[in-house]
Amino acid sequence: MSGGFGELQDLYGEVILDHNRRPRNFGRLPGASHSAVGHNPLCGDRVEVTLRVEDGRIEEIAFEGVGCAISTASASMMTEALRGKSLAEARCLFERFHALVTGAPTAGGGEVPELGKLAAFAGVGEFPMRVKCATLAWHALQSALASGAATAPPRPAAAPGAGSGPEPEPAAGSAPGGPRRGSSNADNGGASGGR
Ligand code: ZN
Repeated sequence: MSGGFGELQDLYGEVILDHNRRPRNFGRLPGASHSAVGHNPLCGDRVEVTLRVEDGRIEEIAFEGVGCAISTASASMMTEALRGKSLAEARCLFERFHALVTGAPTAGGGEVPELGKLAAFAGVGEFPMRVKCATLAWHALQSALASGAATAPPRPAAAPGAGSGPEPEPAAGSAPGGPRRGSSNADNGGASGGR
């Protein structure tokens, strides 16, 4: 019982920082069979996951996007963890990772074998807002796989047109009633993640 736990946590922190600085598998796969975009409006994270699945196995996987250190490192480490995995293994890993970051109790042994470096995100569970950052890429992966095997993406993804624009323009209704929507006033609760 030499208090080495803190050192371990520091080590995990370095892993996350390293993956944030140098994301692995960053970019878009040219011949992707599945892809999906994940967006976390609470933090401003955006990630696109592209992967190529052959015979029920993830042959290649990459991600692209911008976000906080947690979301970027999580996406980077996810791609490393899932390359070469079967879809069943990927689903299992996602469930374990999700349980880890949401603070769900791990059964028995106290150590989750397959997570590997992903265990670095264990401390995220203490910060509910960060959980969405850590799981963003995983949820994008899930929706990519759920969307079915689209052999060719129909849209060239270069059309940032209508849809969820960052700034909602005021509609032409001009009702003089004042703010109708319950605009949640700037909920910048303890954003202690800054540098
Ligand atoms: Zn984030």
